[in-house]
Amino acid sequence: MALALRPNCEYCDCDLPPEDSRARICSYECTFCADCVERHLRNVCPNCGGGFTPRPIRPRTEWRPGLSVAKRPPSDQRIHLSYSEAEIAALSERIAAIAPERR
Ligand SMILES: [Zn+2]
Ligand SMILES: [Zn+2]
Repeated sequence: MALALRPNCEYCDCDLPPEDSRARICSYECTFCADCVERHLRNVCPNCGGGFTPRPIRPRTEWRPGLSVAKRPPSDQRIHLSYSEAEIAALSERIAAIAPERR
């Protein structure tokens, strides 16, 4: 199973195409832009409480057979948070000071 490469930030809904270096993911592939991770989420995933890492960029060139953005295209299913801004802020407030490896 490859990363889904989700097409948007779950918080602000900006586009995050496969080559976008602003994309951040948690271990469950919840996907946000770097700006929202820093300013709104404080490195706390609103869905699972985990931290974020830059999403790896899938090569556009098929360096190996069958492996490229064209051969393994990104997901086209836009995902949106089911929590309110207040609920998200409350969770970040509780968890942000705990390092991800200790959560
Ligand atoms: Zn965003
Ligand atoms: Zn998550």
